[in-house]
Amino acid sequence: LLAADGTVARTIFAEMTTLAARTGAINLGQGFPDVDGPDWVKAAAKDAIDAGRNQYAPGDGVPELRAAIADHQRRHYGLDVDPDTEVLVTTGATEALTTAVLALTGPGDEVITLEPFYDSHAAAIAMAGATHVPVPLTADLRLDAAALRAAASDRTAMILINTPHNPTGTVLTRAELEHVAAVARERDAVVVSDEVYEHLVFDDARHVPVATLPGMAGRTLTVSSSGKTFSLTGWKVGWVHGPAELVTAIRTVKQFVTYASGSPFQPAIARALADDDVPRELAASLAARRDLLCDGLRAAGFDVVVPQGTYFVVADGAPLGFDDGHDLCRRLPDLAGVVGVPVSAFCRASSPAADALASRVRFTFVKRSDVLRDAVGRLAALA
Ligand code: PMP
Ligand code: GLN
Repeated sequence: LLAADGTVARTIFAEMTTLAARTGAINLGQGFPDVDGPDWVKAAAKDAIDAGRNQYAPGDGVPELRAAIADHQRRHYGLDVDPDTEVLVTTGATEALTTAVLALTGPGDEVITLEPFYDSHAAAIAMAGATHVPVPLTADLRLDAAALRAAASDRTAMILINTPHNPTGTVLTRAELEHVAAVARERDAVVVSDEVYEHLVFDDARHVPVATLPGMAGRTLTVSSSGKTFSLTGWKVGWVHGPAELVTAIRTVKQFVTYASGSPFQPAIARALADDDVPRELAASLAARRDLLCDGLRAAGFDVVVPQGTYFVVADGAPLGFDDGHDLCRRLPDLAGVVGVPVSAFCRASSPAADALASRVRFTFVKRSDVLRDAVGRLAALA
């Protein structure tokens, strides 16, 4: 977690957001919406503050939010979740992921991730003292079932997946998830499934929680967050659900990490979770903005893999003569007044995946259409 010079390494998102602020470039690096979630959800948090919900919440979350999470999982996926024993509210998905890894793995354990992986996944594994075993995606950014099977061992304690996948926008199919489930069963491993973009899927792609696969509910921890679904990333209301004994282990760690999460946001998110229109409309509008950015990137000369979900598209700078995505990202503010994030930042340093993806850059399209049009106009300067 330390940089080579001994200082605390900053996340790539902080680095690129600072670069955007310093240069005045359009920030398509860090993924956060530039339009806030619905007024009625914000009003619900204000009401909760005025109603005096300002002291510590129960450590596992307010009852109405735990009930809303269980109801959401039943309504969308047919999952049967006990809100009292099988749900833990966390400070964003980040806390759920990190406390899950800390609670369930340690030295001698191996944790498999799909590479590229979200940065906090790798940091959590390092903090737990476990061994990180990344499995690179295929060249077309899909699960490599053979590589996954080859990476598993008797020491595999956890398989940490993310679908819809940041940074690639890949939405794992049921068939791909069957491979994950089979390997987890063979190795008696827990699956942690980061599903923060569960509602942000496009076209005919469908989000499948791995917990819905036969035999998987008993060994899967499903993590999500209200940040993306309701465009309230700064509220940091997330959760994890799964078998009671695993959730109890995570709760034990959470007690000493944050103890409890922000009180007034929880009843507001409980109300939001009952609403399916907000996420549906967001997904539809995001699909249009994805098309706008993908078309613009292609017109500027990038190769683009059209994402089926998330906030992000991965573009290849190689056709434009840029072989090093990190270098391109540092120069992009000067060259085109835009900021992106190198995909290699989601890979181990100098790994085969980092090499294979060296020229790729992640751009976010969770910005207003006029902002994206401006960005696309600027990127045209590269062509
Ligand atoms: N997992 C993934 C894949 C993410 O992209 C993010 C945030 N962008 C998170 C987890 C963290 O979510 P939260 O802000 O709820 O902690
Ligand atoms: N998850 C967001 C992204 O991928 C960033 C969140 C953060 O800065 N940690 O852009």
